[in-house]
Amino acid sequence: MMDRHGVPAHPNNFMVWYAFVADRNPDLTKAVNGILRAGQKFSDDICADLYERFFGTSQHEAELRAVGKRIEDAVARVLEYLVTANAGAAQYGEALQNFSGELEVKDAADLGVLVRSILDETKMMIEVNRQLEQRLETSSSEIARLREDLDQLKREATTDALTGLANRKLFDVALREAALESEEERKFLSLLMIDIDFFKNFNDTHGHMLGDQVLKLVARTISDSIKGKDTAARYGGEEFAIILPDTRLKDAVAVADNIRRLVASRKVLNRRTGQVLGQVTLSIGVAEYEFGETLGAFVHRADEALYLSKRQGRNRVMSQDDLTSTSHLEFDDGE
Ligand code: GH3
Ligand code: MG
Ligand code: MG
Repeated sequence: MMDRHGVPAHPNNFMVWYAFVADRNPDLTKAVNGILRAGQKFSDDICADLYERFFGTSQHEAELRAVGKRIEDAVARVLEYLVTANAGAAQYGEALQNFSGELEVKDAADLGVLVRSILDETKMMIEVNRQLEQRLETSSSEIARLREDLDQLKREATTDALTGLANRKLFDVALREAALESEEERKFLSLLMIDIDFFKNFNDTHGHMLGDQVLKLVARTISDSIKGKDTAARYGGEEFAIILPDTRLKDAVAVADNIRRLVASRKVLNRRTGQVLGQVTLSIGVAEYEFGETLGAFVHRADEALYLSKRQGRNRVMSQDDLTSTSHLEFDDGE
């Protein structure tokens, strides 16, 4: 297909076209289809733009760099003020020193001159300090504002824009931390992998816009069903993952089944027309962490349990315990 449309065989282009053919991202699919329909050529610019929009990080990095630069500038300015202040103080000290050398006063007139010059120096010093104080105040509120910007950028970098849940990047970090803590404190740790059933079908029937609403609804149900230390993430397109620290397998299965039942019990409505669009169901896989295993192995086990739920008919929760018994059966069948 790339060849047919004259798209150079470049790794970035492969990423775009793989995602397009696999229908991985509805927005990307829409964008490529738009170009195809318009009969536009896939010029280098268009190819680069597609990659940047759907896989690029350079825009975000540029924003981070800009904030970093502004903080550096602000700090440099503060340092400059401090150097100025230091010089001012040194000069003032020197002036006082000089006066003390001249303190042999012969008459009242001499004293008057001396006091006036000390007063002048002091006034100048006060003025320098006042300016410095003002500049430092401006700088510190600027730095506070920059810190807020940075916090905001950090939040955005780890949040899924559609659902507000943690994104895949934060999930990876949170899972690593949870596994470390579980090892250290010898505590249970469980993982839920959740996938919406027949979601392609839903999108094809009702459109991506309503599909997105369903993703939000599922995300909200998930957030409402977890507590404190738990981390819920959008793992991929219509897949979610929940990290449950300090939770053993059977309790994690209960959490999973609660979420599954809540989602299945809600009728999805088209708010505009009031039409009932039917039921959305979830398949869920649950695994419990084994000390010392790789995170890949842990996630894989939850995934296997999820696919078992799919194979067994969807709208259900399966755990790693179901996996061992049934996979034995399957292997027996196969041999
Ligand atoms: P299964 O029950 O086996 O999981 O079937 P499925 O159709 O849910 O699974 P499949 O992997 O074939 O399709 C997933 C679909 O999810 C494809 C895509 O249309 C949809 N999808 C993925 N991300 C998004 C998104 O951000 N918004 C919307 N509206 N749909 C999405
Ligand atoms: Mg899926
Ligand atoms: Mg699915």
